[in-house]
Amino acid sequence: MNRGYSYKFSALPSSGDIRVWKVPVRFVNKGGSSGVAASLGYSADLPNGAFVEDLDPSEGAVCEEHILPAGLYSGEFLSLDPFDLDDLIDFQSRHGLIIGARDNTLPLSETQIRRLDPAPNSQAFCEAYGAHRFGGQQQGINRSKEYFTELGDQGVMVSSIEEVVSTVLNAQQVIVGTINLLKSPEEAISSEDLKEAKAGVNFASAVLSQWLKPLDLVYEDSIKTRYCDLMTAIFLQLARGLINGNGYRYCQNPECGLLFTPSDFNRRSDSGYHSVECQERAKYLRLKRKKELLEKK
Ligand SMILES: [Zn+2]
Repeated sequence: MNRGYSYKFSALPSSGDIRVWKVPVRFVNKGGSSGVAASLGYSADLPNGAFVEDLDPSEGAVCEEHILPAGLYSGEFLSLDPFDLDDLIDFQSRHGLIIGARDNTLPLSETQIRRLDPAPNSQAFCEAYGAHRFGGQQQGINRSKEYFTELGDQGVMVSSIEEVVSTVLNAQQVIVGTINLLKSPEEAISSEDLKEAKAGVNFASAVLSQWLKPLDLVYEDSIKTRYCDLMTAIFLQLARGLINGNGYRYCQNPECGLLFTPSDFNRRSDSGYHSVECQERAKYLRLKRKKELLEKK
C-alpha cells in the first residue's frame, strides 16, 4: 500500500471514498396501481410508473459527484421504507438512482458508469445464487426495459417501481442476512441463517464483480476517479464491513440502536457505541436507573 498501488485478486479497495453519480430523481406516474407490493407479499399500494433521472442535457445539466456517507448501508439505507414513494424519491435524490443488478455490457469508460439500457445481470440471477429468491428484481429490470424504450431515449436512466422496490428489499435482506456471519463462535449460527448469509454474500459479490474485474490493478489514485451506481456502492460498504473484520453491531445506547461499523465512525473496533454522545447518554441512563432503584429501597 505504501508504494501507492496494489494488486487485487477478487478483492476490493479496502479504503478510499466511494463515489457515485447523483442526479435529481423524479417519478413518472403512469396511473393505476403497480401491484408490486402484492406480488412480493406485502400489503401496500404503489402507483404504476418509473423513476427517471431529472436531467436535461440540452440545458447543460450535469451529474453531480457524490461521496457516499460512511455507514450508509447499515444506517439510513436499512431504515428506508421501500413502500413509501416520497421516501424513495427523497433518498434517491440525495444519493442517486436505485438500479438493480443489471448487466453491464456497454462499452463504458471507468469514470462514466451509465447502465442505460436495462438487462438483468445473468451471473447475479443464476440458479446457484438463488434465482427465485431475487426473481422480483429480475422481473423489475425487465419492466424497466419497457419503460426505457418509452422514456429513456434522451439518454437518461430509467428504473421501474418494480425494480426499485424489489432491489431495496433484496439488498436490505442481504445486509441483515450477512450480519449473522459476524456472530462470535460461541453463538451458534443456524443452518437456515447460514444459507441466507451465503445467498447474500454470493449475490453481493456477483454485483461487485461487474464493477471490479477479478484481476485488476488498482492504483491508490485511480480509486478517486472511479464511480459506481448506488447499489454497487452500498454492497461495497457492506463488503468492507465484512472484510475488515470489525463488522457491524447495534449501538448499545437503548435510545439509538443504530447498526454501525466502528471504523466508519472512527470508533475503536471493540466499541459498543456508534458515537461519543451515545456512550455518554447510555452512561447517564445507567446512573439514572441505578439512582431510581436505590430510591425505591
Ligand atoms: Zn448510537
